[in-house]
Amino acid sequence: MSRIGAESAFDVLVRARALEGQGRDVIHLEIGEPDFPTPQHIVDAGKKALDDGWTHYGPAQGLPELREAIAEHVSETRGISVSAANVCVMPGGKPLIFFPMLALLGPGDEAIYPNPGFPIYESMIRVSGATAVPVPLIEERGFSFDLDVFRKSLNSRTKMVVLNSPQNPTGGMIPAEDIAAIADEVRGRDLVVLSDEIYSRIVYGNEKPVSIASLPGMLEKTIILDGFSKTYAMTGWRLGYGVMPSCLVDPVNKLMVNSNSCTASFTQRAGIAALRGPQEPVDAMVAEFLRRRDAFCAGLNDVPGWSCTIPGGAFYAFANVKGTGRGSKEIADSLLNDAGVACLNGAGFGEYGEGYIRFSYANSYENLMRAVERIKAWSARG
Ligand code: PLP
Repeated sequence: MSRIGAESAFDVLVRARALEGQGRDVIHLEIGEPDFPTPQHIVDAGKKALDDGWTHYGPAQGLPELREAIAEHVSETRGISVSAANVCVMPGGKPLIFFPMLALLGPGDEAIYPNPGFPIYESMIRVSGATAVPVPLIEERGFSFDLDVFRKSLNSRTKMVVLNSPQNPTGGMIPAEDIAAIADEVRGRDLVVLSDEIYSRIVYGNEKPVSIASLPGMLEKTIILDGFSKTYAMTGWRLGYGVMPSCLVDPVNKLMVNSNSCTASFTQRAGIAALRGPQEPVDAMVAEFLRRRDAFCAGLNDVPGWSCTIPGGAFYAFANVKGTGRGSKEIADSLLNDAGVACLNGAGFGEYGEGYIRFSYANSYENLMRAVERIKAWSARG
């Protein structure tokens, strides 16, 4: 337990709620979940599944029909050919970090992870007993890996490399040429890549994220992590999946049997409707995120001492506040307490996040504009 970490978003949410309990008005830009409702046809499918009796245990690996739908979806979107036998369905994307790390890593091993990055990577690497090796994400490179540090970090003890694109917390994407360079470095090594692609559907430019699994020789050593939480605004349904090499399916299933038994059956039926049904609600959500991104980042770029690289994906803005001369923890605390804007200290995502503030723009356009006004007024007060 001394090695396990947490997610600061949940801590800040508690502090923000406490302020609201005292009558304060807080704009919530801390938590990373779409503010849109789950599309109606998915909700209807979940309700129907309950009425039809999908209320019992199912196979630990997931319902065969959902695994088929996932295999088709992943094959089509990544330009690869994967089988339902390699798909493991889980209650959310997080167990796809937890279980493969427990299965693969132990004392003496090393695992490389992005920093700043989703805090669960470092936490779970450390829980496994392995050494967590951070690779800095470089703002000037669109928050892609520092490839020199990456190359120097690889050694015979490296058993896992974690990639995340588009990223939490930066919204950055790893360009195709960097994915190719990373693949070239790891192809001949005895390690597994955990490719967290949970934001792969939430991208704004013409450039689509490239899955490392689609590069020659990489499918057999990559775990693709994806899920329904972000794409279909289904965070509370708890539904995610991994596509993994055959040798990992059995160990990961055993960890499922020992922990969750299986993923909720009616939730999985809703997942089939999500993948096979109309995709327009996803497109509409992404279009609205784009509108918010442009206006919100423009607003942040107007704050003296601040600059915000325009993120290519996800729904996070990662503002550089180094020009203010103040620490990012102090700024995040003060924005919550003195300006009523809940946001996260970048250092909560690792030491290379110091000097940045993460905002989730999964809130209404109006609230985002109010938040910009509050930040500007707060900044003017000094
Ligand atoms: N991976 C990343 C990068 C995330 O940001 C999140 C959620 O915030 C997850 C995985 C986990 O998602 P889920 O809610 O499906 O467990």
